[in-house]
Amino acid sequence: METIAVGESTVRLEYQARDASAARRVAEALVKAVPSAERWGQLRVPVTVVLHPSHAALEEAVHRDGFAWLRAWARFDTIDLQSPRTWNVIFPPAPAEIEELLAHELTHCVMYQRAGSAWSWPYKGIPLWFREGMASVAAGQGHKRSRPESLWAFYANAKTPGAGGGTPSAGGRPGRMPRDGDPISDPEPLYQGDADLVYGAAHHAFQFLLDRYGAERVQRVLAEMGGGHGFEAAFRTAIGIPAEAFEAEFRRYVTWRGWEACGGG
Ligand SMILES: [Zn+2]
Repeated sequence: METIAVGESTVRLEYQARDASAARRVAEALVKAVPSAERWGQLRVPVTVVLHPSHAALEEAVHRDGFAWLRAWARFDTIDLQSPRTWNVIFPPAPAEIEELLAHELTHCVMYQRAGSAWSWPYKGIPLWFREGMASVAAGQGHKRSRPESLWAFYANAKTPGAGGGTPSAGGRPGRMPRDGDPISDPEPLYQGDADLVYGAAHHAFQFLLDRYGAERVQRVLAEMGGGHGFEAAFRTAIGIPAEAFEAEFRRYVTWRGWEACGGG
């Protein structure tokens, strides 16, 4: 175990002897990753990054099975990380790739530490799009996310756009049926098998929130949760509309291909 100080924050690194050089790369990446994550607040509690020597060891540590794409898992003050040595056996990852992944995971820690305490953070009801969107945007991962066109195509094929779970389906299901779930309002059915769609949707929804309502109000969502509220109430107070209404706004932006009209990037 070693301790690394970046600015005011402390990150502890745990690794096995065979991952000593991977740990060096992780330590170097933290110098850039911590400030990216701290755009959304300070790490009040030191984070421990545990390097796992294989993908199987990571899945075991985070109690997930069959998530071949998973590289890391963040909680309040821990990050379980598959050693970058084993991400790709032929091409070792570039420093920027490790920095991005760490910035993403550390943003989760910042979010959880601002939203709650060591015991209350999992119960804040933070939706996946907000969690993953904030982390993806803070880490600058837009370049690896699916384009909004994929999301548009998803809704174009959906029978009831954004209906989410619990929609009764009557009788037979002929031909090619739309998939269950909604990348924003009901991502669970899509998460394991279509991570690209779900993470892309989260990234674009969060960027849309930032562009439309501004970073200050998003900061206030975190502050309201830290003040004891759940996500729903915090969002309504800080943004001024219920999260559900925002999700509908974003869905309209996607189905009307708003990114083309705005001329933005
Ligand atoms: Zn994440």
